[in-house]
Amino acid sequence: MNVILLGPPGAGKGTQAQRLVEKYGIVQLSTGDILRGAVASGSALGKQAKQVMEAGQLMPDDLMIEIISDRIDQPDCANGFILDGFPRTVPQAEALDALLARKRLKLDHVIELKVDDAALLSRIRSRASQEGAAGKARADDNADVLKKRLSVYHEQTAPILPYYRRRGVLKAVDGMADIGGVASQIDALIGGGEN
Ligand code: AMP
Repeated sequence: MNVILLGPPGAGKGTQAQRLVEKYGIVQLSTGDILRGAVASGSALGKQAKQVMEAGQLMPDDLMIEIISDRIDQPDCANGFILDGFPRTVPQAEALDALLARKRLKLDHVIELKVDDAALLSRIRSRASQEGAAGKARADDNADVLKKRLSVYHEQTAPILPYYRRRGVLKAVDGMADIGGVASQIDALIGGGEN
């Protein structure tokens, strides 16, 4: 089963993706996590990613498409994957379609987590303060960067929604519900609940 989780930063995509990993034995492909790994390793990609992420901007499409295409080829993806944070632009969505077709894979579900901006700001503030207290604050989690990331989401990522809606694969859940509530809506959509 191959799934895309869509939604603005802080909508809970990562949390829901991790639950799907446990429930369905598929892997989570988080482009944000991949980039944070590169930052931690100090590679050239990491140096570029650090600047882009701290500014709340997006990395170049070509680079992200190559990263995700290589990642999907890894053996652990054979059972299926959840894309979390990719695609983030219409060109990425188009390239994903092309590369899945080339690899003879299909998208089973595209799920949008619907949340409002004010709630996201308050969620992100609490995440930043918890992670700050634990000594692992993310540089892209402060309120100013989040505002920038939200505007980038509305300008560059939200246009993906009509792209998938036109193809009849988009389903939405109420991301304002609590974690369990969002999880059961997702399970209902993907025909889960059986294990
Ligand atoms: P995330 O953890 O998914 O919120 O991603 C953190 C940051 O990594 C984003 O704000 C972007 O700067 C960068 N990033 C992650 N995924 C992508 C992508 N698919 N395209 C471009 N930039 C990305």
